[in-house]
Amino acid sequence: MAGGTRPGLLSRRRGRTEVHEYSVALEVWESVAAAAREHGGGRVRSIRLEIGALNLIEDEQLRFWIGALAEREGSPGVELEITHVPGRVRCRSCGREGEAVVPEGALPYSVVGTLRCSECGSGEVMIVGGRDLKVVSAEIETEGRNGRGE
Ligand SMILES: [Zn+2]
Repeated sequence: MAGGTRPGLLSRRRGRTEVHEYSVALEVWESVAAAAREHGGGRVRSIRLEIGALNLIEDEQLRFWIGALAEREGSPGVELEITHVPGRVRCRSCGREGEAVVPEGALPYSVVGTLRCSECGSGEVMIVGGRDLKVVSAEIETEGRNGRGE
């Protein structure tokens, strides 16, 4: 654990976003668990996720909750690989498409209304990327043989 990094930011965010990460973790875990059941109910070994920046997910908390859910349901030690996708917006004022500027202290559920164009600062922006959160793949151990690969 990297203690001491951004303590102010972390403690300010804690409590406010915990529920957010938990509900996301639950959603991810349930979809993976459903896939595992379809494949014979084996142990889940690893999960690869793609997370858009606009979801404002704290990786550490997400890892914690998915780990906890996996352990409770018979898949302890599940590996989580997270790929981040930057938030992208198209500006209605200047027409520029670029990375979304997420204001400091933005809340997960209201971030959309607070985004700004990185070029002219206008708030009239359309989100064109970075909102998705998807399970790219999951490695599931199948009964009797090992599920390496697909
Ligand atoms: Zn603009």
